[in-house]
Amino acid sequence: MEIKRILTGDRPTGKLHIGHYFGSLQNRVKLQNDGKMFIEIADVQALTDNFNNPEKVKGNVKEVLMDQLAVGLDPNKVTFFLQSMIPEIAELTVFYSNLVTIARLERNPTVKTEIAQKRELFGESVTYGFLGYPVSQAADITAFDATIIPVGEDQLPLIEQCREIVRKFNSIYGEVLREPTAFLGENKRIKGLDGNEKMGKSLGNAIYLSDSEEEITKKVMNAVTDPARIKKDDPGNPNICMVAYYHNLFSKDNVKNICEECKQGKRGCVACKKQLIKNIMEHLSPIQERRHYYEERPKEVREILFEGTNEAKKEAAKTMEKVKEVMKLDYFKDK
Ligand code: ATP
Ligand code: MG
Repeated sequence: MEIKRILTGDRPTGKLHIGHYFGSLQNRVKLQNDGKMFIEIADVQALTDNFNNPEKVKGNVKEVLMDQLAVGLDPNKVTFFLQSMIPEIAELTVFYSNLVTIARLERNPTVKTEIAQKRELFGESVTYGFLGYPVSQAADITAFDATIIPVGEDQLPLIEQCREIVRKFNSIYGEVLREPTAFLGENKRIKGLDGNEKMGKSLGNAIYLSDSEEEITKKVMNAVTDPARIKKDDPGNPNICMVAYYHNLFSKDNVKNICEECKQGKRGCVACKKQLIKNIMEHLSPIQERRHYYEERPKEVREILFEGTNEAKKEAAKTMEKVKEVMKLDYFKDK
């Protein structure tokens, strides 16, 4: 039977949050037993909108890796690698850029939303690098011949764009690339503390997996609740309350009770928030304990990334050989 090839990744733009956890990390932990899994730390992609802040990107590489190890991804099963160390990805990006029009990139809904969020950085005209990041993401995926991509919902238009590039490449040069499929979990998109449709590291609305109890308390206590509920015994509306929303993730067994009591004005917001903080901490404690283990062993963390990157290089080289052959770029092969 064919071994499944799975690839996913994160931008080292900040520590990982509960949006990542429910949206993608939980799936990764399950899938690591189902095939060959690659996890990219996308430092080159992170630079597309942090080119003026390389320290931030560098500093977050180890943070993102430690978060992954903390949730239970096993470095003996998963190949963790650094995008900037794989020149084949940059080469493929150049080749693929001939197969995508600017109009198509501008129409990509994810890119569109992100450009709107980054007006301050880009002003009136977005950079060539940022507009083209879906092309480099197609290179990330295909360099490793990956077909299963566990991601959150925001990534769907990017996977679709990758599939189009693969089809175009194969139809022109020959069938060497495979079309990937997005693998969505039960929680496709986790909302931010501010009620924004997406919790994001670059949006300042996240509960991080490594947040202390104090930080989580502050965030939950300030979370948006039903504004019409003023007194403790006013009936509340959990549908417009972020605390209820997170109870759905962390308090699965008794969420119905919690929301029923809120609707009847029997449970005040403070008690409800305290319960949520307790449940979040119970959930995150084992993750934070494992993170602590790695925080104390920076050499081990570096080694995991170094070894994974070396292995990834070999895999990308195999793809590159096939690609260059069909693109007639193998001039000195028989020399
Ligand atoms: P940035 O704001 O810098 O883009 P991010 O929080 O969006 O950071 P990424 O590194 O871009 O994180 O995304 C890594 C993975 O996590 C992707 O598969 C993405 O779909 C998923 N993901 C990110 N945020 C969420 C969320 N709020 N809900 C579900 N999945 C998410
Ligand atoms: Mg993102």
